[in-house]
Amino acid sequence: MTEKAAGESHGGDDATAAASYPDATSLWSDAELLRAVVYGSPLAIYVVGPSGLVELWNPAAERLFGWTADQAIGRRLPIVSDETSAEFDRLLALAFADQPFSDLERVRHRRDGSPVVVAISTVPLRDSKGAIRAVLGVSEDITDRRAAEEALVCQARQDSLTGLFARGYFLEVLEKQLLGDAATAALVMLDLDGFKDVNDRFGHHVGDEILTSFAQRLRSAVGERGDAGRLGGDEFVVLLRGVGENSTAEAGRALLSGIDRPIRAGGREFSIGVSAGIVHCRGSTRVEEVLRRADLALLEAKHSHPGTCRVFDQRMEDAAVERLLLETQLANAVVRDEIVLHYQPIIDLATGAMTGVEALVRWEHPRLGLLPPARFVPLAESTGAIVELGLHVLRESCNQLRQWELEYPSAKQMVLSVNLSPRQMREPSLAGDVAAILAEAGVEASRLQLEVTEHMTATDEDEEALVRLGSLGVQLAIDDFGTGYSSLIALRRYPFSTLKIDRSFVAGLSSGWEDRAIIVATLSLSESLGLAVIAEGVETEVQLSMLRSLGCERAQGFLLGRPQPAEAISALLART
Ligand code: C2E
Ligand code: MG
Ligand code: MG
Repeated sequence: MTEKAAGESHGGDDATAAASYPDATSLWSDAELLRAVVYGSPLAIYVVGPSGLVELWNPAAERLFGWTADQAIGRRLPIVSDETSAEFDRLLALAFADQPFSDLERVRHRRDGSPVVVAISTVPLRDSKGAIRAVLGVSEDITDRRAAEEALVCQARQDSLTGLFARGYFLEVLEKQLLGDAATAALVMLDLDGFKDVNDRFGHHVGDEILTSFAQRLRSAVGERGDAGRLGGDEFVVLLRGVGENSTAEAGRALLSGIDRPIRAGGREFSIGVSAGIVHCRGSTRVEEVLRRADLALLEAKHSHPGTCRVFDQRMEDAAVERLLLETQLANAVVRDEIVLHYQPIIDLATGAMTGVEALVRWEHPRLGLLPPARFVPLAESTGAIVELGLHVLRESCNQLRQWELEYPSAKQMVLSVNLSPRQMREPSLAGDVAAILAEAGVEASRLQLEVTEHMTATDEDEEALVRLGSLGVQLAIDDFGTGYSSLIALRRYPFSTLKIDRSFVAGLSSGWEDRAIIVATLSLSESLGLAVIAEGVETEVQLSMLRSLGCERAQGFLLGRPQPAEAISALLART
């Protein structure tokens, strides 16, 4: 029964309603019909008088609330508790003031004290003069429906794998905090170091187990001090409350030390490091802003100090803005002719002759000046711009080599070294592009040496690329040897002809025995494997003479020749 029906039951519409059901009214009396409806209804129906006393209580009300009609009639409505009594009185007053309501959701209680959620509708009962003398209430039990709805909401709020807050809900909670009390909150973003590798190597079920255990640990470390959520993958977030701006770093450290233990999954133990970035929320009102800042701090931790928690610093944002700017400008640097190549001589230590040069890229930035590769090569790697940039370097340097060959007899034997980045190795067209560039420049394949780092010999894809390059006839060198993980023996699988000893070992030559021992071992292994060796970063006479006495054939370094423009190399060639 609804509000509207209540209105219709009183007044002039009665005749029309009855007229459309002539058979019904003639077969049963109104009173009989009413009894059948009230006593047979599955909905709880009761009548309450002006002072709140129950006048009627149907069997469905007995079933739903647990009080029999005898117990309910003549008393105040028993389903109203002390706490809800004032609210009930207000509703009753409204109903008596001819403002009935329908489907109003309220919590009432059963005889045993348990709560029941009901949707209440009221109908005024009038005397012959039209005055309201009692109110009929209808209550539908919607406890289960509400519970199911709440479960759904809860589900949407929860990350299904870990049970932490799901992304969307966490962001809502964060926004509330920022708009309410940002001055005492900090946001931490966490990421498991090397999780992807574990996932790839041990399978997703192990990965999931790790994420779940980690989430549990995170939740107990956070406790009542905040909320933890999962943004996706292995990226977690924590909103810490009660953190003063000055204790931001301490809060981050404490959180990290509470969770940094090996994790058991799939029957084994994983010592997975956790990196984190933290930002204090004071003064921030925008969710995206704090998220971006925590993320920048996390990135910094991952890159330079894995396993630690970094605090956001404005400089990180400035650097990110600059990176973004460089990124966009880099896309046009080749076309604008801003890419410059410098060449560093590679010297035969026995004869002092220049046996080759290494092409090293620079960016002549219109505002920032000449930028070293460290400022833009990693950027180009991440955007993929390195593919075009790398081919440009290769084309320019091959043309340059051809030029030198034509002009200087001493350049006839010179080998050109060009660096390849991992991203280039993943281009299926790499070998074809290299072949085309060599042909165009008129340079023989054997005069080109491509340098790759040990990190680039990890996947089957890399191996294939190396083999294809090798079969073109170009020479392959391992750059920065000793800084990666692979052993010389493992590297024998690839068609390398040259190994470049990283300059960190050369730098340590005169100061300690370890670096010397590593160089000695590398030299002797290379010899037995038939690999040529180039020592990098020779800066002092002491280093040079030690390398010579150890039997190292070739070297490059500031002492022997800095990276310099092509014209400077031309001048060197002219003198020999
Ligand atoms: P790399 O291939 O190991 O190049 C040698 C780096 O050591 C060069 O730095 C060079 O200037 C520097 N160097 C040479 N001798 C000395 C020395 O005696 N002392 C010291 N301290 N440093 C010395 P640069 O030019 O800044 O290049 C850095 C790295 O950038 C290169 O390391 C290479 O990995 C990368 N790179 C350079 N050009 C290219 C390129 O065209 N493509 C790609 N993918 N990477 C490049
Ligand atoms: Mg190199
Ligand atoms: Mg190197």
